[in-house]
This record gives sequence, C-alpha cells and structure tokens, in this order.
Amino acid sequence: MEFAPVNSKRTLFRQDTRAASYIIQRPRIFERGPMTATAPSPHASAAVAPVRPVNLLLLLVASPLVWIAPRAIGRLWLRASLWQSFLLAVLHTSVGAMIVSRNLPTDIAAMDYWHHPFTRVESVMLLLMVVGGFLSFLVMLGFAIIPFVPLPGPSRSAIRHVIRTILLGTTMVYLWAAAFCLARPVSDGLMARYEFGDTVLLWLALGAGLLVWAYVSLVSAATIDYRRPQDVPAPREPRCDDCGYDIHTIPLDSRCPECGKPVMDCLGDYVRPPTPWERKPSFMRLGLVCRQFFTLTFRPLSLFRVMPITTGHAAARRWLCLTIGLVFVEAFWVAPTIYLIDRDLNVSAMEWQTYAAGFTTSVAWAFLALMMVGIETAGVTAVSRYRKQPIDMAAASKVTCYASTPLFFWVILGIAQADLLFWWVNLYHGPARYGDRMDSFFTITTFGIAHIGGLLLFEMTVYRGLRAVMYAIR
Ligand SMILES: [Zn+2]
Repeated sequence: MEFAPVNSKRTLFRQDTRAASYIIQRPRIFERGPMTATAPSPHASAAVAPVRPVNLLLLLVASPLVWIAPRAIGRLWLRASLWQSFLLAVLHTSVGAMIVSRNLPTDIAAMDYWHHPFTRVESVMLLLMVVGGFLSFLVMLGFAIIPFVPLPGPSRSAIRHVIRTILLGTTMVYLWAAAFCLARPVSDGLMARYEFGDTVLLWLALGAGLLVWAYVSLVSAATIDYRRPQDVPAPREPRCDDCGYDIHTIPLDSRCPECGKPVMDCLGDYVRPPTPWERKPSFMRLGLVCRQFFTLTFRPLSLFRVMPITTGHAAARRWLCLTIGLVFVEAFWVAPTIYLIDRDLNVSAMEWQTYAAGFTTSVAWAFLALMMVGIETAGVTAVSRYRKQPIDMAAASKVTCYASTPLFFWVILGIAQADLLFWWVNLYHGPARYGDRMDSFFTITTFGIAHIGGLLLFEMTVYRGLRAVMYAIR
C-alpha cells in the first residue's frame, strides 16, 4: 500500500483547528486502510462461525466423544448456546457422580469412614467440598485453556467460547469415573505387589496422564474459529505508538504533539512488521529460538516495541508451547536432583517410582504455568478496559504468551528451593538447626522467595510488554 503524497503546506496550515484538519485528513486516513472502520478487516474472512442452533439430544450424545475426536465435536459445540451447555454440564456431572457413588468403597458408602458414622452435617460438608473442588477445577481448567483460544475481535465472545467449552467439556467426568471404577480392583492387585505409597504414586501419575489427555483434547476443540459474523475485530484508532495521543488529525510528516515521535513511525506501513519468528515459527530454527529466548529474558521491550499486535497469534501460541515444554522437562528433575545432592542415594538406583513422581510433578507444574498465563491474560484484558485503550483478549494473550519465557527461571528457582529444603531437613546438622520452628520458618521463607520471585519476573515482563503494545495499531 502506498501513501498519498502529503500536501504539508495545506495540512499544516489547517491544523490550528482540529475540526478543519479532520475534514482534510479524514479521507486520506480512509485510503490508508486497515485502521479505519470502513476498511476491510484482515480477519473479516476468517469469522464465519456457524450460527445454526444444534439439537440438544445430538449435543448430549456426541459430547463425550470429544476425548476421541476433539476437532469434529469442537465444530459441533460452536452451535451450542450457553444455556444448552449449562444444562448438559449439570446432566453429565450428575450422571458421573452417580457412577462414582455406586462404586464407592464399602466403608465410605456405609458412611463409616475413619471408624465413625458421618453425621448429617459432615455429609453435607463432604458434598460441598466435592462440589466446590470440582467447580474450582473447572475454573482452573478454563484459565489454563485461555492462552490458546482468543482470536482478534471482541473479548466477550472469546470468554463466552471458553465458558461454553468448559461446560460441555464436563463430559470429562466419564473419564474420571471410569478411572475411579477401575481404581479399586486394580489397586487391590497393586497393593499386593507394591507398598501403599507406591500405589498412590502410580495413581497420581495415571491421573496426571488423564489430565494431559483431557487438556489437549479440550484445547484442540477450543481452537476452532468461534467468531460469528458480528465478531469481526474493530480496527484500532490511529494513536501515537509511544504515548497514545490521538494522531488521526495529524499530518503524516509531522510529529506527535505530546512526545515528539514522528507520526510516520506510528502509522507507516513499515511499522511493526511480522517478526522473524512470526514469519516462520519453526523450532528447527535453533539460532532464532535461542536469540528470541534471550531477548525475551533480558531485553523484552526490544521485541514488544517492534512486534505487531493484531496478527501473529498462532506464532505466539507456538512460543508458549515451547515455554510449557521447557517447564515440563525442567520440573521432571525435582525428584531426581535430590539423588544428586544426597551421596547416600545412588542415581543408578532410580526406579519407576522416580519417573512416576517426575512425570506427575511435570504435569502439575506445566498446568500451573498455563493457568498463570491464562489468569494473566484475563487480568490484562480486564485492567485495560479501565484504561484509555482497551486491549482485546487476543492481543493480551499474544503479550502473555511471549512474556511466559521467564517462567523457565521460575521452575529453576522452584527446584533449587526443593533441593535446598531437602538438604536442610535431611543432610544439614550445623548450628543453625534450632528445631521445628526454625524448619517452618526456613520452609516458608525459601518457598516465598522462589515462587513469588519467579512469578514476579513473569508479571514484570507482561507489564512492560503491555506498555509497549497498548497503542499499536497493527
Ligand atoms: Zn506521542
């Protein structure tokens, strides 16, 4: 696209009153393309989600198949309304709960657990705990899929889509119920072979595997274009890239009256082109991946200042996959590194228990990381609504996906803390050991430093990234 030649004398002359320059300038801005309301949006053709209502019975029967054919069922889910989804969530959850309650171990079923019968109050509290736990799990799962979902357009539709996916995804209760029904007979067999702790560990690892399966299926179902025709993204108002000053009446060859940045550097076609990673987001380009990793760790602003914000979401999500993959691989070493610091333990003696514990830790930590990125995305979207320039959820998710890179260091801090704690409790016998109180103080302090510190790194990168992109128009 070429710029219309700027008749600077005339425009500068008329610039004293904004209304007059608006008349002169407005048509030229129309010619400039994607930043005006009448220009065709680059995403317009993508938003053709079906609006045909879906048969409730079909939805009921087909939804559990999402764990086998997520894309096909995901396309069917696009036609479901929130009410239908809510109704089915209640229905599926009730059936799942029924299956579990029919297969309860006898002592729980007889309400004689821990050798005393449950009172009515205890039963109600237990029920509330189970329901509350399940609801919190759904909320966490919702946050964990947010980073992969939003597309340019109104944030409201993205949130609606996430809620619908989580509600319809409650058919996951059948996965858990099946695992629960299998658990008892298989556990009895395992108990005969292994110790109690080992059996629990095995089930935790299987549960983690089931969580990965459920999560991957849901993300796969949720990443289909959910936008309806009315969800076409509105172009962003031309603003100064640095300070947000409204520059749509300012000639292209002048400067921002607020901060002095050349207007051409905010609106020119060469501003914020796709980054090298976005042009070809391949993990095979090791040099580029390492460079971008170091940029995002030590000089994140140098990327956020030149990065486009209305395109390149898929590449950003692929980058998030890299971060989460690294977190997964790192977290595995929490248990094995203990073998390295304790000379009495032998690394070669690591058995399947170590791998099961490592896998469970990896899944839990990766899930936490995804949840953090999701919470941050939702938070950034909400906070920006109170500012002058609201940022849509897709743009927010692009920032948080790249800003997730420091989570790598969060896990390193976390492992160091776990190892230090192990050393303190089991190996250290020096004068600083004063007993239980000192132990809890040491545990809480190191835990706080490692985890709050690690997450602060992420927070700060998000904040700085957001400052650098909030006024960008492309
Ligand atoms: Zn400015």
